[in-house]
Formats: sequence, structure tokens, C-alpha cells
Amino acid sequence: MVNFALTEEQQEFRKWVHEFAEREIRPVAPQYDETEEFPWPVVKKAAEIGLYSMDFYLQAGQDESGLMSALALEEVAWGCTGIGLGIFGTGLPLAALAGNGTPEQLKEWAPKMFGTPEDPRLGAFAVTEADAGSDVSKLRTSAKRERDGWLLNGTKVFITNGGIADVHVVVATVDPALGHRGQATFVIGKDTPGFREGKKERKLGIRASHTSEIVMEDCWIPAENLLGGDEKLAAKIERARSGQKTGKTSGALATFEATRPMVGAQAVGIARAAWEFARDYAKERQTFGRPIIEHQAIAFKLADMALETDAARLLVWRASWMARNGQPFPHAEGSMSKLKGGEVAVRVTDEAIQILGGYGYIKDFPVEKWHRDAKIFCIFEGTSEIQRLVISRALAAE
Ligand SMILES: Cc1cc2nc3c(=O)[nH]c(=O)nc-3n(C[C@H](O)[C@H](O)[C@H](O)COP(=O)(O)OP(=O)(O)OC[C@H]3O[C@@H](n4cnc5c(N)ncnc54)[C@H](O)[C@@H]3O)c2cc1C
Repeated sequence: MVNFALTEEQQEFRKWVHEFAEREIRPVAPQYDETEEFPWPVVKKAAEIGLYSMDFYLQAGQDESGLMSALALEEVAWGCTGIGLGIFGTGLPLAALAGNGTPEQLKEWAPKMFGTPEDPRLGAFAVTEADAGSDVSKLRTSAKRERDGWLLNGTKVFITNGGIADVHVVVATVDPALGHRGQATFVIGKDTPGFREGKKERKLGIRASHTSEIVMEDCWIPAENLLGGDEKLAAKIERARSGQKTGKTSGALATFEATRPMVGAQAVGIARAAWEFARDYAKERQTFGRPIIEHQAIAFKLADMALETDAARLLVWRASWMARNGQPFPHAEGSMSKLKGGEVAVRVTDEAIQILGGYGYIKDFPVEKWHRDAKIFCIFEGTSEIQRLVISRALAAE
């Protein structure tokens, strides 16, 4: 049976998050966009009401519809997606920890990512390097066995929460010749000698989100910081060296399919913010003796903006449901939802600027910021081109 209606409980939950976004996020969004500071006070408020917590993810994991995270992320992004990343950016390192670590490792490190409501902390997931973005197999941060532990050397770039997180989940190579099959995932705790923040990036959009390099110089970590443990890594490397194929979808790809709808949900939040604002403006603004919404050229733009936003949301909800219910992703439906969300957010925010005319282009109105914020959704967590590659490969494999 297919049911598109949200339950009363889901509607209540969405309203609760929306009110938080309206009260605590939207009013301060321009300020953080301007200063590029990390929105600690907002994250703290989110932690106090339980929106930023381990418990939120545990509850979302139990929600059979799979929609809880998607609903929350859309509403928060409606408020400001830069601040939204401050609140939900820890979800990605948490997924990496849960996907690669043992239950004991998850129990040890996940609470450190969140801290307490009085003193919230962050997590970061570091894969990208200067010469390895889309092509992750080329990453060169090395991990070598030393003194019953691991010695890490290398620099990661563009890391969300990089250097300000208490817990960094880092992908490094143990054997570069084996590409991604020679890679392992490690966890690095706060104040580890040899680990430091590099350059903080200045950005076009999502400026409340912190993006930095992280540098590892002879950074030694104990053996137990290898996620999944020694035996699992040894077996993986052995299989890769003997040229053996696993025959099933790689764990990393499956994790991406499950996390990409969450990226799509944030993009939907920006798109909705933009078309709602443009609609209200178009009802007020008069030209040639009538509200501009009565000019068909503007009315049709609004129709397309609402249509595309709904289409993107439906893809996000479908993929969220598939992820929660252990469905395979035969057509890479997770990637589809992220691709559609990002491209819709860019188009809808562009049209919102057009509808506001000159007022769309200046900072007194929020739509120029939404357009700047939207673009990242076609770039991070797999560019639009990479999503198309993943989808087309899934189709070709059928
Ligand atoms: C604000 C921000 C936050 C980020 N946060 C994180 C984070 O927390 N952790 C992390 O690890 N990384 C993070 N990233 C990195 C991000 O995931 C990468 O920038 C992204 O994957 C693209 O890699 P690249 O920049 O090296 O581009 P490249 O891989 O160099 O791509 C350049 C262009 O070539 C295209 N291209 C590449 N390969 C192909 C192909 N095979 N076919 C067709 N086209 C192709 C791309 O689509 C793109 O248009 C972040 C980036 C930004 C900007």
C-alpha cells in the first residue's frame, strides 16, 4: 500500500522543528552569513531541545517510515542551510562511524561527537584531498603500522567541522596500489599530537558552516582507532591483493545511497523557502496596474518552482523509506534524490531572484543568499556529474 499522507505524529514533529527554525534560525541567518562564524549558540539551543543529540539519530533509526530525518532536515534548511549543517553535519561522521566501526567503537566515539546539551561537541568526516575529490581512489593520506598503533600523514581539504570537531573520522590509504580497496577508516580524538586544523575556507554560500583543511603530521593513534579492527582490514586487503571480487555492492556505496537523501532533503528546504518567499512577494508587488503574480510569465515560474520542489521531495521521501526498510537501490534512488534536490534548489532560487527583480539581487532580501547556499548541493557528497555516473552505472548493470 502507498500512503502519501503524514501521520498526526509526523505532522506534529515537523511543526516542532519548523517552529524552531522560524524562531531560532531564520532571524540570525544573515548575521552568520556575514560573519562566517560557527553558530554555536544555535547548536546549543538545538541540543537543549534534543534536536542535536545522539538520541535524535536513535529515534530516527527506529522510525519505520524513514521520514523523520528528512522532515527535520528540510525544516532546518528552510531556516538556513549553513546553520542546518552546523546542527546536522555530525550526521555524516556518525554514519561513517556506524557503517565502519564495531558496536564497541560506536559506543565509545558517538557520544564524544555530541557532547552534552550544556557543552555540545561536533564530529567531522574527512575523505577529500587536494588531488582526490570525486576520484577517492587517489587519496594519499597514508596510514602505517607503528608502535602497536597507526601513524597517519597527509592533508585533507574542504572538511565540514574540520579542526573544530572533537572526533574526526578519517579515510587513509594503507596500500595506495589497491585504490579504494587499500583504504581504511580511522577515528582521531581531540588534542591528538600531530593533528591540527589547516586553512579555514571562505565560501560563496553555507557560510555559517565551518570548512577547513586538516593536517596530520606523524599523527600516532592507538590500534583500536582503526574502525572495524585489524582482522577485517587484513581480510579486505588480502582479498584485494588476490584480485578477488566481493560480488556485492560495496559497503561505502550502500552507505552513500542511504545518506544522500538527507542531503536532498536540505536542498528541498532551500527550494521551498525560495518559492514561498517569491510567491508572497509576487502577490504584493505591482507592475502595470496589477500584482506581478497575475502576469503569466511570473505565475508559470511559480508553478514550475512548486512542481519541481514537490518532485524533489517525493524522491527524497522514497529514498528515505528505501534506506530505512533495507531495500536495495536498483536505480541508485538515493543518488537520484540528491541530484534532483541540488539542481532544483539552484533553479528555484535563481527564479526567485528573477521574480524579485532588483530586490532579489540585494542583501535586504534573503533570496540571493539562498541562491548562494543552494549551489553546494550540486557539489559536495558527490557532484551532479558523479550522481549521474552512479545512476547510469546502476541502469547499465541491470
Ligand atoms: C563546502 C564544502 C564542504 C565539504 N565537506 C566535505 C567533508 O565534510 N568531507 C569531505 O571529505 N569532503 C568534503 N567536501 C569535498 C567535496 O565532497 C568535493 O569537493 C567534491 O566531491 C568534488 O571533488 P573536487 O572538488 O575535487 O572536484 P573534482 O573531483 O576535481 O571535479 C571537478 C569537476 O569534474 C567533474 N568530474 C570529475 N570526475 C568526473 C567523471 N568521472 N565524469 C564526469 N565528470 C567528472 C566533477 O563533477 C566536477 O564538475 C566539501 C566541499 C565543500 C566545497
